[in-house]
Amino acid sequence: MNPKIIDGKSIAQTLCDDVKQATTAFIAESGIVPRLDVIIVGEDPASRVYVANKQKRAESIGFKGGITRLPVTTSQADLLAAIREKNADPAVHGILVQLPLPAHIDEHLVIQTIAAHKDVDGFHFDNVARLATGTGGGYAPCTPAGCMHLLRTVEPKLDGAHAVVVGRSNIVGKPMGALLLAANCTVTMAHSRTKDLADMCRSADVLVAAVGRPEMLPGDWVKKDAIVIDVGINRTSEGRLVGDVHFDSAIANARAITPVPGGVGPMTIAFLMANTLDAAQKATATQAAA
Ligand code: NDP
Repeated sequence: MNPKIIDGKSIAQTLCDDVKQATTAFIAESGIVPRLDVIIVGEDPASRVYVANKQKRAESIGFKGGITRLPVTTSQADLLAAIREKNADPAVHGILVQLPLPAHIDEHLVIQTIAAHKDVDGFHFDNVARLATGTGGGYAPCTPAGCMHLLRTVEPKLDGAHAVVVGRSNIVGKPMGALLLAANCTVTMAHSRTKDLADMCRSADVLVAAVGRPEMLPGDWVKKDAIVIDVGINRTSEGRLVGDVHFDSAIANARAITPVPGGVGPMTIAFLMANTLDAAQKATATQAAA
């Protein structure tokens, strides 16, 4: 079997086209334009690029909204007040606070202040609990949701597959594990204290790397015909963008693999758009029922 490069860019484009079409239909039917508001604190260059990309994509889909840029000196109280204002505004359907935040601001408190039904990033405890308990009705974080979508393009039925997730962050690793478990995989969560990581990875039918270390997973850690999802985005000292997996050697063993760039990255924004439309649809249905 030829290893297949999973084209995240084109899969994300298809998803965005679908969201755009559904948005046009929703606006025609309800007269309501979905609105995504993004808040950024400080001048972090990477965050500014991410936020601008999200805004550009939102506009192309037909959403309203904008970016609130707050200075790095913004107090926690002022940031929370800005969020509460958006929580109270029925015209705002999705709220995203770009992370990381300056050190003087409590990131957890900020996330918990966003109304759960407007938390299109899926980081609020209510959404985390819904995902962890399989209750449904919430929002899964966009990056792992995007990874699942990519996986399913290769293998719609993941039942019984051994999935190894390397990395246990709240935004990628842990929710990825929960989504894989919900898809009936047998999940192993690996991290910096995991023993025999190489052997662990070699036993994976599905290998997800979310570490943040350039090309840390060599090709001989990849089981023959495994599906490899590389979440990592790392800049090498020569300025190259690479993942956490050594792509050129991993592709020899993999049944399918995501490239970096052009794999997982574009999916994150696509799911943010899908979640925002969903939030607008749910808010409208709730208002109609009231
Ligand atoms: P974090 O730094 O929050 O988490 C990294 C995880 O990797 C931790 O759980 C850590 O373990 C684990 N880890 C670190 N070193 C090792 C090691 N030597 N062996 C095994 N595990 C290790 O990162 P994120 O989850 O936020 O991001 C991971 C990567 O994904 C980054 O490259 C980031 O840029 C990228 N990313 C990409 C996105 C996209 O849209 N494509 C979105 C979000 C992130 P421990 O907990 O023990 O410290």
